[in-house]
Amino acid sequence: SMKLDISALRYLTSEDWRVLQAVEQGSKNHELVPTPLIQQIAGLRGGSGVHKCISALAKVGLIAKVKNAKYDGYRLTYGGLDYLALNTHRKASAIYSLGNQIGVGKESDIYITASPDGRQLVLKLHRLGRISFRTVKANRDYLRKRSTGSWMYLSRLAAQKEHAFMRILYREGFPVPEPVAWSRHTVVMEFIDSFPLRMIESIPDPGKLYGELMDMIVELAKRGLIHGDFNEFNILIKEKTVNGKIRLEPIMIDFPQTVSTNHANAQMYFDRDVACVKRYFERRFKYTSDEPGPFLADALKDTDPGRRLDIEVEASGFSKKMAKELEQYVEVAGGDQTETDGASALGHDDDVDEIDEDDEDDEDDQGVEHSEREAGEDDAPSIFRVGDPDL
Ligand code: ADP
Ligand code: MG
Repeated sequence: SMKLDISALRYLTSEDWRVLQAVEQGSKNHELVPTPLIQQIAGLRGGSGVHKCISALAKVGLIAKVKNAKYDGYRLTYGGLDYLALNTHRKASAIYSLGNQIGVGKESDIYITASPDGRQLVLKLHRLGRISFRTVKANRDYLRKRSTGSWMYLSRLAAQKEHAFMRILYREGFPVPEPVAWSRHTVVMEFIDSFPLRMIESIPDPGKLYGELMDMIVELAKRGLIHGDFNEFNILIKEKTVNGKIRLEPIMIDFPQTVSTNHANAQMYFDRDVACVKRYFERRFKYTSDEPGPFLADALKDTDPGRRLDIEVEASGFSKKMAKELEQYVEVAGGDQTETDGASALGHDDDVDEIDEDDEDDEDDQGVEHSEREAGEDDAPSIFRVGDPDL
């Protein structure tokens, strides 16, 4: 997967940052951003300074030179976008240091980070289009039509959507990590010291956990939402000791595919989430519930229109149009759901086209991996240049 190489982070000057930001801004309406435009947006006097910044940024791969029939220019790389997001989080005091990578999702990279006061957090970088398109030809064709800019745009939409949903779900007391910040294609959230359900060998009372998970699906639907990718990878299990007894607490994550109960395929999504839990409990824990359902129709009967969260998210800025754009992509790419049982989606396919030249290497898509929790975050030095308040 694409490594987040932060080694250059502390060497960038404030002019470098301004130029990087200028390339980002120029990318919004230019496939390639020509040097004079970079100079103009950055608002830096004197040509040589800008050229120096440009070559410094290109050298560490934050921008890439692109030759074109009409003119040469630069484009932002995913690495450059990572840096810009990190810098925004730094300025907002959301992130101070970066720890181990703990997850390589199909379409995200997950890192442990720490806030300036030492709180462990998770940084999720959305990387849409990285893997899903490799196998299916139709998907590749869809991909080719899209430029680098729109990958970044879609990744940003995914992060925005995830943050918007988490914010509201957290506030409403649903068991989700506390969202801390959102910038571009990244979300910073509470670190849940846990294991994905997938990694749990056995549990003392599967019926109890099963019931809790089904209740979650139903409670969400009552508030107008369907997770859409409710599987054993997206349910984290936290172990809590209460009065000497171990209690398993499920926490749900991963919301880019969440849909409204008004969605045309709401029934299908709801039933799929339910079936996914059912199947998993049967296979892994040999547990089958006596009760049928739950059913979407029952949940909808209990819906209070005034408490609909789908409507609130839409009002919060993640518009219907944005939802559509992202959904169009998700439909083509498919979620975790479709790949749960096979490694096929995890990039072990040699016969692939490079999706985006931004992805320097793809050698280690090893799926979810839990590494040491105590990464010494407390004493980690800042990953950023120190003593420069105006980066
Ligand atoms: P993807 O969209 O790539 O599936 P997820 O949000 O599901 O990304 O995260 C991938 C993995 O990273 C999860 O299965 C989990 O192991 C880990 N992870 C994600 N968020 C957190 C968190 N807040 N706390 C602890 N682990 C997390
Ligand atoms: Mg996931």
